[in-house]
Amino acid sequence: MPTPVCLVHYHEVGLKGKNRASFENQLVANLRHALRPYPIERIRRISGHLLVELADERVVRDIFEAVRQVPGVARSSVAYRCERDEQEYCDAAITALAEAGNFESFKVHARRSNTDYPLHTIDINRLVGSALCERFPDKQVLMHHPDVIVYVNVVQSDVYVYATSEPGVGGLPVGTAGKVVSLLSSGFDSPVATWMVGRRGATVIPIHFSGRPMTSDTSEYLCQDIMRALAPSGIASRLYVVPFGASQREISLAVPQSLRIIMYRRIMLAVAERLAHIEGAKALVTGESLGQVASQTLDNITAVNEVVDMPVLRPLIGSDKQEIMARAQAIGTYELSSESVDDCCTLFMPRRPETHARLDEVHEAWELFDHEAMISSLVEAIEYVDFDTCASYRPPRSMRTWHNELGPANFGER
Ligand code: ATP
Ligand code: MG
Repeated sequence: MPTPVCLVHYHEVGLKGKNRASFENQLVANLRHALRPYPIERIRRISGHLLVELADERVVRDIFEAVRQVPGVARSSVAYRCERDEQEYCDAAITALAEAGNFESFKVHARRSNTDYPLHTIDINRLVGSALCERFPDKQVLMHHPDVIVYVNVVQSDVYVYATSEPGVGGLPVGTAGKVVSLLSSGFDSPVATWMVGRRGATVIPIHFSGRPMTSDTSEYLCQDIMRALAPSGIASRLYVVPFGASQREISLAVPQSLRIIMYRRIMLAVAERLAHIEGAKALVTGESLGQVASQTLDNITAVNEVVDMPVLRPLIGSDKQEIMARAQAIGTYELSSESVDDCCTLFMPRRPETHARLDEVHEAWELFDHEAMISSLVEAIEYVDFDTCASYRPPRSMRTWHNELGPANFGER
């Protein structure tokens, strides 16, 4: 009986020119990391695909599903690896089609990466097609839009046959686009934004501002659950948490009510930028979407953005709520984000927040409290939780010593 393997197809990685090898290597490393819970024998390259070979073939479906969630994977298939033996690969085609779920129509699609195989693709199509017609006489062969396509790939000395094949998340392997620091709340938008930059190959470092000690730490636990939900994609390993409640209180006492949110956001962005420097990250990420709420008008974005020099990526800027919700469902963060909890955003909210902040007023308010001291002390108060889900993440060296010097109470694991 032919052995089942998982065949990984990549699209964009395959388009890379000179640095294609480094993209492929990163994808292999990420797959290896994502598949750690499973008995994998090895992952290797075969003519434009990656092949996951299993030590226990019963887990092939689980691996097929896990692979689909890894950025850089265009498609995942459950394939049977056969010898160049007509009987063997025709039988495998029957098994593969029987396992492909309900169908009324099918077709066979043969490919050869080696031309030393005497049968032409047209011959293979005919041969396998007639074996399938014999076994499934009541099903129809359709050249256009069949329910199932049975692929027969001749690669080197092997023939791979598969009919179970589903799209992956696409994008590029995490770790090929540098590091970013992502501002993560437990709302709908920022987990999606975080995932989206990860899908473009960034190693993501989420930072969450909690209302602690003024609110409970529920939002922090929700963010940890969001990290777990994002784990299969392998985009992030470490969650930073900043207890922000006391600073918010200080701000709320010092500045005009309507400008509070802008001040909170300026501090958040400044702290995130400091962390980015420590981490060697080159950009910040937020879940803002133009005009969605009061704080996301162009005037307010400008008023907040000016405190940092680093680029701020806003992958959702042109998305509407429906699209964001659908994506949240797909990546598994929707349910978590539906639980509304108090975080720093709900703390000391003004009754009428400014929607079109004037820069002179913003600058005046900014001088009403010691923002520099606040930013520094918040950076020193940062805590973190490690999840070890991202293969490309390396904690910064400077932080290790910092951590040791200050001890876990100031800068450490929770
Ligand atoms: P989200 O759904 O991501 O919470 P939102 O629609 O609630 O966003 P805002 O409250 O204006 O919108 O937040 C805009 C962005 O600021 C968020 O997408 C996130 O990137 C960042 N942000 C907001 N609150 C926090 C927080 N408590 N910790 C870290 N980042 C935050
Ligand atoms: Mg929010």
